[in-house]
Amino acid sequence: MMHLRSGRRFLLSIFCMFAGAPLSGASHSSPQVQSPLGRADSTVIVLLGTGGPPPTPDAAGPATAIVVGARVFLFDAGAGVMRRMTAARLPVTGPTATFITHLHSDHTLGLPDVILTTWVVGRKKPLEVFGPHGLQSMTANIFAAWKEDIDIRSKGLEHASPTGYAVHVHEISPGIVYDSGGVKITAIPVLHGSWKEAYGYRIDTPDRSIVISGDTRPSSALQQAARGVDVLIHEVHPEGFMGAQKVSADTDRLRYMREFHTSDVELGRIVADAKPKMLILYHFGARATASDTVVATIQHAGYQGRIVVGKDLDRF
Ligand SMILES: [Zn+2]
Ligand SMILES: [Zn+2]
Repeated sequence: MMHLRSGRRFLLSIFCMFAGAPLSGASHSSPQVQSPLGRADSTVIVLLGTGGPPPTPDAAGPATAIVVGARVFLFDAGAGVMRRMTAARLPVTGPTATFITHLHSDHTLGLPDVILTTWVVGRKKPLEVFGPHGLQSMTANIFAAWKEDIDIRSKGLEHASPTGYAVHVHEISPGIVYDSGGVKITAIPVLHGSWKEAYGYRIDTPDRSIVISGDTRPSSALQQAARGVDVLIHEVHPEGFMGAQKVSADTDRLRYMREFHTSDVELGRIVADAKPKMLILYHFGARATASDTVVATIQHAGYQGRIVVGKDLDRF
């Protein structure tokens, strides 16, 4: 009897787990959320993660999907990327190609997630991942870290594809790194403090031109690449915020912000000159408190295009 009762309790808890799953999933991926996969000549930008390093619940780590027809191009793999892919109704068996801007942890914490989760849920083809030198070593170390998991899943009862976790790493140089089926992707060298290699990307599709900054201080190559594009997706922080910290902050922090990142004042000058048709702000740490100030500062520099403060799962 005891046995039966605990058995029922077990079944009930299992039922609750499964009953709860679709409900909690529904809040992010309710039926009215359509997959952005569409016509081959239609491009949709999906902001998967717009946050910075702090783990805020409403903003995952940096990750942006550019969807062209049935193809998904992923830019950066911040923490939470695969959860956001599901919420956006994108295929969980892996993007067509992934492009990493640089190897800072906030941009790559989701890389093991992209590599391993896509495999666990059924990926059979190698994942194509492009990024700076060092990406090959990072990927090899991910495989080393999860070696036992890979052995158990592929040799045991899960029967995971023994080769499905494979990754083709492409360590890139500036210039065109992908050109196929009407989609051309160009790596743009950017200046990100002491990183030897960091890239922004320009994506040209049949119907749109898009530039993603990654992390950068003002970089003339990026400004050139963004000239007249349909959409510029750019990192930003409020200059005033840095100024307010001046009293207490050590000078290394201030130097770090100047050498590694772009302030609203600097971004205002960049977009006033480059004139992208639309500017999406992402990787914007002080978004909750400084959005209005940052937008006003950028407009003050003379930029007349549309400015959007990006939020996770926004589509454009
Ligand atoms: Zn960085
Ligand atoms: Zn970053």
